[in-house]
Amino acid sequence: MAKQTINVDPNCDDDYDAASLSCDEALRQILARVETVSDTEILPVREALGRVLARPVVSPLDVPSHRNSAMDGYAVRTADLPADGVARLRVVGHAFAGNPYTGSVGENETVRIMTGAVVPAETNVVVMQEQVEADGDCIVIDNRHVDGQNVRAAGEDIRAGVTVLEPGRVISPADLGLIASLGIGEAEVYRRVRVAFLSTGDELRGVGESLAVGEIYDSNRYTLYGMLTRLGIEIIDLGVVIDERDAVRDALTAAAQRADVVISSGGVSVGEADYIKEILREIGQVGFWKVAMKPGRPLAFGHINGAVFFGLPGNPVSVMVTFYQFVQPALRKIMGAEPQSALLIKAIAGNVLKKRPGRVEYQRGMLAMDADGRAIVRTESDQGSGILSSMSNANCFVVLPMDGGRVEAGELVDVQMFHGLM
Ligand code: AMP
Ligand code: MG
Repeated sequence: MAKQTINVDPNCDDDYDAASLSCDEALRQILARVETVSDTEILPVREALGRVLARPVVSPLDVPSHRNSAMDGYAVRTADLPADGVARLRVVGHAFAGNPYTGSVGENETVRIMTGAVVPAETNVVVMQEQVEADGDCIVIDNRHVDGQNVRAAGEDIRAGVTVLEPGRVISPADLGLIASLGIGEAEVYRRVRVAFLSTGDELRGVGESLAVGEIYDSNRYTLYGMLTRLGIEIIDLGVVIDERDAVRDALTAAAQRADVVISSGGVSVGEADYIKEILREIGQVGFWKVAMKPGRPLAFGHINGAVFFGLPGNPVSVMVTFYQFVQPALRKIMGAEPQSALLIKAIAGNVLKKRPGRVEYQRGMLAMDADGRAIVRTESDQGSGILSSMSNANCFVVLPMDGGRVEAGELVDVQMFHGLM
């Protein structure tokens, strides 16, 4: 009788795979094996936007540097506040922001004061202009006011000597303002990290070339360009390398000489891995991992000479998913940035999410608020790792845990927004 079954090797359609690393474990191992660059540079503050701070920013002064008014109104002595009834005070001068009142303020006297102006020494109360009655060169106030009101203390925002920003911080627009508010014109940041990347595959053609049967345009170098540029990385685009031993070996060796990090895409799955494995064994220390994730299971990681190496899968969505889950956190560490755990938020599944237990899945979703203000996430039905439009149409990953299965509409799921990630 003819044979009715065949033996099947472990393959990418399997779910549980005892030989797989969990995503957390893979990331832990990667982070343990990369180091922060040591060189720093001093930049004019504005040029430091998006760069990583290498030295603390310490305030040389109190902010604000003087006691000042929080309101437009009148500066009043505590002793002149009426316990009950009203008090009549004579206006003896004006205090403007940047143009203080230089006289003194005596009994039953007051000074017209503007927001940000120095509060005269004798006074400790600012009465809002809307809460007084004018009477010639005098004002009348009632008994609603309390000592210290509307007066901002010197140093109430920042005290001299305090560390305002710690190293490891990616400098934001607010930080630029904060640094400038201290009168500081420069910031010491880590040098830019250099990343060289290339695509492997005989089927790949560049934009502008024509396609023969079976050929496709190389999109991975474009998504990589975008993802790296957003991080402030200095990039070296090494183009497409054909699936040929010497070509791949020469390209990777040259890349490692020029960059801190080398990223390749394609050629790490079972079909093609063998010669790549051999080459990498020859020129570096690289591990070939199966990570329990979907998409993006095969991943090569290690070092070629002094450079960190990532061999990403070839499928366009897998490249992006593995980049954000592994390469970006590693690059952040190399750049000197403080660790940042993935920011997951809860959303309601707007449709059924098909999944089998055994791997973490990063499905592409579109998160939106419904009329009641609830966060609802919907996914496209085609979650194939080659469908790049599913990334383009999405605004978040729906992160489904390793052991979980199918999710029904209405259940809560974890969502990782692209905004802030990309
Ligand atoms: P590989 O990992 O080399 O087996 O590639 C897996 C799939 O991704 C194949 O369908 C490749 O044609 C495709 N692929 C590989 N590299 C690229 C690239 N740079 N741009 C677009 N698709 C790619
Ligand atoms: Mg290939």
